[in-house]
Amino acid sequence: MSRNETLWKEALKYLPGGVNSPARACCPVGVEPIFAVRGRGSRIWDADDREYVDYVCSWGALLLGHAHPKIVESVASAASRGASFGLPTPEETELAKRVARMVPSVEKVRLVSSGTEATMSAVRLARGVTGRDKILKFEGCYHGHVDSLLVKAGSGALTLALPGTPGVPREHVAQTLTAPYNDLGAVQEIMDREGADVACIIVEPVAGNMGVVPPKEGFLEGLRRMAADCGALLIFDEVITGFRLGKGGYQELCGVTPDITTLGKALGAGLPVGAFGARAEIMDRLAPDGPIYQAGTLSGNPLAVAGGLAGMREIERDGFHEDLDERARILEEGLVEAISSSSIDATVNRVGSMLTMFFTERKVDGYAAALNADTETFGAFFKAMRARGVNLPPSQFEAWFVSSAHTEEDMEKTVDAVRSVLSEIT
Ligand code: PMP
Repeated sequence: MSRNETLWKEALKYLPGGVNSPARACCPVGVEPIFAVRGRGSRIWDADDREYVDYVCSWGALLLGHAHPKIVESVASAASRGASFGLPTPEETELAKRVARMVPSVEKVRLVSSGTEATMSAVRLARGVTGRDKILKFEGCYHGHVDSLLVKAGSGALTLALPGTPGVPREHVAQTLTAPYNDLGAVQEIMDREGADVACIIVEPVAGNMGVVPPKEGFLEGLRRMAADCGALLIFDEVITGFRLGKGGYQELCGVTPDITTLGKALGAGLPVGAFGARAEIMDRLAPDGPIYQAGTLSGNPLAVAGGLAGMREIERDGFHEDLDERARILEEGLVEAISSSSIDATVNRVGSMLTMFFTERKVDGYAAALNADTETFGAFFKAMRARGVNLPPSQFEAWFVSSAHTEEDMEKTVDAVRSVLSEIT
């Protein structure tokens, strides 16, 4: 038995499903997961010392690749000074200042420890500010495992075909309205009917959790207008897109400014940091200044903040995103070429450094089109790619993430593998 197999048997005894987060389990693609032992740049090594080019990149958190020396140094130095105090630290303000400088909608920010905490708190803030209970989200968008946000959620819930989940009270589900992503007409209908009760519209400005689906032209502008017309707040969940698609997230690129922004993943450079931010007038409604309660023992944790700060310093460099996007563009071009010289029906959606290869002949412009993809073929593809040393997210409905550590050689290796796998699984 390989070391990976032995570790998996042991994990299954003590962790439900063998994992601490369902998307890692690989059951949708019919294989056992590999165990990560170490990573460096674009590469990871498993427990059997096999090397892979990695496009999971901690589900988007590793914008700079694995074990970036500046991040390692910053975290180690923070650890040597103390892991946590439960007192304010100077670095928290420094990180908040950088976020406010970079993200257009943010004047003040509160740090939390995960994307889920960020969206949960943002929704509470929106409800507290508006005095309304209902929220509107989009089918196939995922905003963490918050009760009211798990309705028709993407990511692992979509992969495992769990459109709802036991354990979420019916009253929470009743407060959550859903519309198809990219369908402004449907949103207008809902807002005409229920707008006066809606606290917020929450959206991934570029969907990443049904696979990558870019917003149609005018979609985000339309949401901005409809939210304002009804006195609801617009929340951009930029947990994936924040700092990845641009220094100021996707809002900077599309020119639409939400009321509240949620952040995570890249913000912590692989350490557990989330955040939510908004104009001061909204953020000042939080306790202790205002009545809306939100708190956390480890919020703004020194190690996590040290990782985040080191990461921010790197991505603030001129040309960082142009260079990153160029690497992803080269990969996309190679994938498109490999698909067109095969007999497989597939299409690639890319926005900046996030992309998905969908096994369908149709253009994927929303949830229904994403669901049309052939998950069985994806499973065969995933397995064969892993056997060739390329680690992809184990689901058709996830984004592949390119980091600044990925090289042209990585892209070549990946595209060569795709070419031979596509001919093998035909
Ligand atoms: N929002 C989005 C857009 C996400 O992709 C995720 C996680 N994939 C979350 C929120 C939740 O973040 P976390 O897993 O850190 O709780």
